[in-house]
Amino acid sequence: MFKRRYSAFAVAREAARFHTGWERAWRSPEPKKKYDVIIVGAGGHGLATAFYLGKNFGITNVAIIEKGWLGGGNTGRNTTIIRSNYLQDPSAALYEKARSLYETMSQDLNYNVMFSPRGVIMLAQTEHEVRGYKRTAHANALQGVQTEFIGPERVKELVPIISLDGPRYPVLGGLWQARGGTGRHDAVAWGYARACSDMGMDIIQKCEVTGVRSENGKVVGVDTTKGAIECDKLGIVVAGNSGHLAEMAGFRLPMESVALQALVSEPIKPCMDVVVMANTVHGYMSQSDKGEMVIGGGTDGFNNYTQRGSFHHVEETVRALVETFPMVSRLKMLRQWGGIVDVTGDRSPVIGKTPLGNCFINAGWGTGGFKAIPGGGWATAELIATGEPGPLSAEFGMERFIEGRFIDESVAAGVAH
Ligand SMILES: Cc1cc2nc3c(=O)[nH]c(=O)nc-3n(C[C@H](O)[C@H](O)[C@H](O)COP(=O)(O)OP(=O)(O)OC[C@H]3O[C@@H](n4cnc5c(N)ncnc54)[C@H](O)[C@@H]3O)c2cc1C
Repeated sequence: MFKRRYSAFAVAREAARFHTGWERAWRSPEPKKKYDVIIVGAGGHGLATAFYLGKNFGITNVAIIEKGWLGGGNTGRNTTIIRSNYLQDPSAALYEKARSLYETMSQDLNYNVMFSPRGVIMLAQTEHEVRGYKRTAHANALQGVQTEFIGPERVKELVPIISLDGPRYPVLGGLWQARGGTGRHDAVAWGYARACSDMGMDIIQKCEVTGVRSENGKVVGVDTTKGAIECDKLGIVVAGNSGHLAEMAGFRLPMESVALQALVSEPIKPCMDVVVMANTVHGYMSQSDKGEMVIGGGTDGFNNYTQRGSFHHVEETVRALVETFPMVSRLKMLRQWGGIVDVTGDRSPVIGKTPLGNCFINAGWGTGGFKAIPGGGWATAELIATGEPGPLSAEFGMERFIEGRFIDESVAAGVAH
């Protein structure tokens, strides 16, 4: 893999020849007539699925079809929080697998994804949250996920700019995951894309899937804006557009699509080197390497497909943060944006078979699927390659909504990321 490796030596060599020797990171081919597997959606999950199909199963006759540009959906729009402190066992296993893959992703992909395990605190600002996070810390201990409940003094040590005595909600402690953190979202998509292209897979951008073709109850291909393309197996990995693709394939999903938004401030000097999430007042913040404060807000209260922010949420989020971080009141905000997330009733994703034969789905990550990209891709590749869910995705099929077997993460993921 990797015909031309990226390295300090390569940077020095190219500097000496005015950077004329770099190759394109991935090819942009025209679609072939037929592929073994088509993945719809070149976000992080789609690209990671393709990557692990090649790496773990040797399946490389794969096309990843993207209606826009790769990584231009939620993967390039999120606030990049990575953590695995979930309550339920199947979620902890999936998210911890993903977090552990992030630890070595830069080396595995030969692409610097800037994984920064700087630590994540989820603030407890009510007695209810204290009890809830202590419970999660105990569950994590049993699941092998390293977290601890810390008191307010330790919170203040880790985050000197925090005000512990908020006017409405004082900080009573927090759930601390020292190996959680952030990564560079675009780089995750670009790194997987380069590796997929290197394995001979075709990434076809600016090509919208407009229909799903089937014969005798099995998928046989897709219609696209670049014509029909045949396939033996289809993976639908389109986040906020999952309902549309499901409709094309002839089934319905237990999901809603809503806009989720974020904003960043002007760059300032380093002032906070951990990620802080305040779920009661609802706001969360980290500082990017450029110095901007990256701030996440909530989902719109109505279903929609607008990839932009709404003013009332910006106001609500900033107001909430000012209570806990008074310095935010002095910050100028630079820009805001939104992405379309697909939310399930139990706030857990769906990775599973669909009613259409040989058609599989990875969806429903809601507000928190960036952290799951390597684990979700790993599990979806296993599902597509073998035709059956593996240990990581066994509980995540959509039949759980018929069987009443929910993986309830509404505390860990209802509003948090
Ligand atoms: C503002 C915001 C903040 C967030 N913060 C965090 C966070 O801090 N931590 C975290 O873990 N998660 C976070 N998330 C959630 C996270 O971004 C998503 O769960 C994750 O990126 C989903 O990845 P994906 O690959 O499934 O989807 P996407 O990256 O959205 O990829 C799906 C792709 O499918 C393409 N597509 C759709 N329809 C078609 C079609 N018909 N034909 C071809 N292509 C199609 C889209 O163009 C898109 O590129 C946040 C999301 C938002 C919007």
